[in-house]
Amino acid sequence: MLRQYELVELVKSYDPDADEDALNRAYVFAMKKHGAQLRESGDPYYSHPIEVAGILTKFKLDCSSIIAGLLHDTVEDTDTTIEEIQQLFGKQVAAIVDGVTKLAMIEQKSGSSKQAENFRKLLLAMSDDIRVLLIKLADRLHNMRTLHFCKPEKRARIAKETLDIYAPLAERIGMQEIKSELEEIAFAELHKEAHDSIVARLNFLREKDSNIVPKIIEQLQKDMEENGIKASVTGREKTPYSIWRKMQQKNASFEQLLDIMAFRICVEDIGTCYQALGVIHSKYHMIPRRFKDYISTPKPNGYKSIHTGVIGPENTRIEIQIRTFEMHEIAEKGVAAHWAYKQGQKVEGRNFRWMRELLEILEQAQNPEEFLENTKLEMYNDQVFCFTPKGDLIGLPINSTPVDFAYAVHSSVGDTCVGAKINGEIKPLRTVLQNGDQVEVLTSKAQHPSTEWERFVVTGKAKAAIRRYVRAHKRDQFIALGKDILDRQFKGEKLEFSEKALVNVMPNFEAESIDDIYAKVGEGLITGWDVLRAVYPAYKQSKLEKVVKAIKVPSLKNVLKKNKSKSEPLKIKGLVPGMAVHFAGCCHPLPGDRIVGIVTTGKGVAVHTIDCKVLEKFADEPERWLDIAWGDEAENEMHVGRLKIMLANEPGALADLSNLVARNNGNISNLNIVYRTVSYFELLVDVEVKDVKHLNDIIAALKASRVVSYVARSAQ
Ligand code: MN
Repeated sequence: MLRQYELVELVKSYDPDADEDALNRAYVFAMKKHGAQLRESGDPYYSHPIEVAGILTKFKLDCSSIIAGLLHDTVEDTDTTIEEIQQLFGKQVAAIVDGVTKLAMIEQKSGSSKQAENFRKLLLAMSDDIRVLLIKLADRLHNMRTLHFCKPEKRARIAKETLDIYAPLAERIGMQEIKSELEEIAFAELHKEAHDSIVARLNFLREKDSNIVPKIIEQLQKDMEENGIKASVTGREKTPYSIWRKMQQKNASFEQLLDIMAFRICVEDIGTCYQALGVIHSKYHMIPRRFKDYISTPKPNGYKSIHTGVIGPENTRIEIQIRTFEMHEIAEKGVAAHWAYKQGQKVEGRNFRWMRELLEILEQAQNPEEFLENTKLEMYNDQVFCFTPKGDLIGLPINSTPVDFAYAVHSSVGDTCVGAKINGEIKPLRTVLQNGDQVEVLTSKAQHPSTEWERFVVTGKAKAAIRRYVRAHKRDQFIALGKDILDRQFKGEKLEFSEKALVNVMPNFEAESIDDIYAKVGEGLITGWDVLRAVYPAYKQSKLEKVVKAIKVPSLKNVLKKNKSKSEPLKIKGLVPGMAVHFAGCCHPLPGDRIVGIVTTGKGVAVHTIDCKVLEKFADEPERWLDIAWGDEAENEMHVGRLKIMLANEPGALADLSNLVARNNGNISNLNIVYRTVSYFELLVDVEVKDVKHLNDIIAALKASRVVSYVARSAQ
């Protein structure tokens, strides 16, 4: 374990301005807080944060990072609060410790490693300060170094998680050294046999010629010098894990993997890299398809280097990497290297594409401390990652809600969702989800998607599902309406109505099912008459075809009942006393209209308006016509007028309509929907009024209404 003074000296060796006092206080604080807690190794727990701080000094991290490293487990594992840390060590250290603590919490929620990629993204998204992530990686590295003290069942889980999540994460931010070490320890744990056999073979090769690596290094170094190139040549055996990976990927045996040695030539600048490459390729046989130039075309993570495979010195197949010193530093230490460069000599490395923005901040920053403070990992900030109660991770676009989450889990969960618990608390469905939220969707079979949801969901999947449901649901309504319309239409014409008959006429309407026909009628795309004529082509349509037969005209008796003058005879002049009389259902005459009577068989006299189209039928029967007129007191009674209205298809429109009529002293006695489309209803409305003037007043009032797009006295 690092002693207190050793740690302080390490930090001061690269940062002379480090706050020595704060470092000392943090060291003691961690020791005190973790107190008698023990690691599984039997060591005092505080040895762990101190070792983590030690690892961080390897990357020459700033004083705040080292202090946060010392304190990183105090909030999670002791009674320490963030406020306490802020008071003692300042805002910055507190923010970093808070970040590391949050990462530890989401870690506990994660049950499966299936979604490693999502989990890595979540870690990156949550580490908005890069130092949080660096401490997390150092923490994991120390835990891996002491993995052998853990119980076996725990070991495998931690090792697998390390391979799935932390090693790729370290690679992602360019921390090559940490990545390799994490991989090697995890590999030895998870595939002990493979690991041991590869190590044994490597040892065997080494015994055959224990000096082969130094010999090749020496020869390559000489090659460079002879050509006037100042270079530093290093060489190593590849790590057991990288050999094993290659064996798996290429399905090759150990013997087939000849280039288990890799050499690296580091030079001053890019031009010299290509000079060095020329020397190698002109002296040694190049192995086809092994040449890769990542200097002219860097890897997506910003990695730069030239790779080539040759039959090298000692007639051995080797891999050679050629790069500048700076490229090397960045490849090995990644993010941390940038900081080191600022500290030391030069800042040129714009190699990490994703680091470019950070480097711009770095150039403007007055000191490294400020740089790191402003260094936000702008990664995956357009996404949030949330857990299911089982610990599965669901990645969603930013601003997603529990409804989006529900649809992401399964469309049936979305369709039936009624509410959500976020981190155990019931929250509104429109709540915006945050990274690491645990979301439990509450469902009910009785629930259906609501059009309201469309206003706040952000995922395409949720939007599409809601629209699909609403469309299907509307269709159900149209089917029911269309069936009703057809049923009445056929009955009104006294024709038999059967679904069987409809099957035969389906092609006429490009319908694939009877429901299609109903839906089309309901939506108003075809009329009941179209269907009736198709089923009974021989049926002679009456002149009244346009009248909607389904309308129930209130009997005069009922109308009169509502009026005070119910017992008095109709105030119509020109009638033979005692003669039965009724108002025609077609034109609904009102006092003020010019009227005419038609003598009918059995029903007495029917009163029509003079312009009623029905009268055409009686044109050649003048003997049935009766000249009549309204009596003086006719307007004291209520009469039924019929209006044709186009009304907006929206909630409350019908209520607005009936209110308007009532406010104008009218009374709706009957109402029938003729057509219904997505945007409007076509209605026939029977209104009890005194006379034509009264009806015209009501028409005027309706015309002024927002929800009424058309209104006129019905000509039907
Ligand atoms: Mn820890």
